[in-house]
Amino acid sequence: VFVSFEGIDGSGKSTQARVLAERLRTLGHDVVLTREPGGAAGAEDIRRLLVEGDPDRWSPETEILLFNAARRDHLEKTIKPALASGQIVISDRFADSTRVYQGAARASLRPLVETLHDLVIGVDPELTFLIDMDPDAALARGLARQSGEDRFEELGAGFQTRLRAGFLALAQANPARFRVIDGAHPPEHVADQIETEMRNWLRI
Ligand code: C5P
Repeated sequence: VFVSFEGIDGSGKSTQARVLAERLRTLGHDVVLTREPGGAAGAEDIRRLLVEGDPDRWSPETEILLFNAARRDHLEKTIKPALASGQIVISDRFADSTRVYQGAARASLRPLVETLHDLVIGVDPELTFLIDMDPDAALARGLARQSGEDRFEELGAGFQTRLRAGFLALAQANPARFRVIDGAHPPEHVADQIETEMRNWLRI
């Protein structure tokens, strides 16, 4: 079973991915918790190329290629072997992040994003939890990191608002795969809701 978590920066998705992994392990499931960009040795190296250094080093097109290179490595080295051995894979972000982040940065990049995905990735998670959150609320809760370390998070509330709309549009277009979870509730409540949805999906 392949599950992903998506959402804007500071939505709490990483925490929720971890809590779901812990809860499923408590229920006796074998779970691999992983993340993007990264999730395999080579992909983590590519992550550093993307998030560290001069923000203008890569053109948007090159950036998309790097995200796909990282994702391909992640898929080959971590996700596919885990799925083949019957484990549940929970990934903090997957291809939807590229659809939304790079697509939101420039709408004209969307065809490139989709074509590359079909060519070199070709799979999507079976179930995706979108932790939906108002960008200002994420900031107010202190969840959104504002350190200068991560260039992607310096893009401002306007960009985050476009991302939120992009994620919601994807969810609307793929209702069978997406579960939209209101991230404004207390984390424990959000985790309970996700667990309920996951159990329904697994029929356990
Ligand atoms: O989720 P996490 O904070 O680890 O992601 C690292 C950064 O990469 C985020 O700030 C996110 O905005 C950015 N990102 C991106 N395009 C993707 C995936 C992540 O810009 N496809």
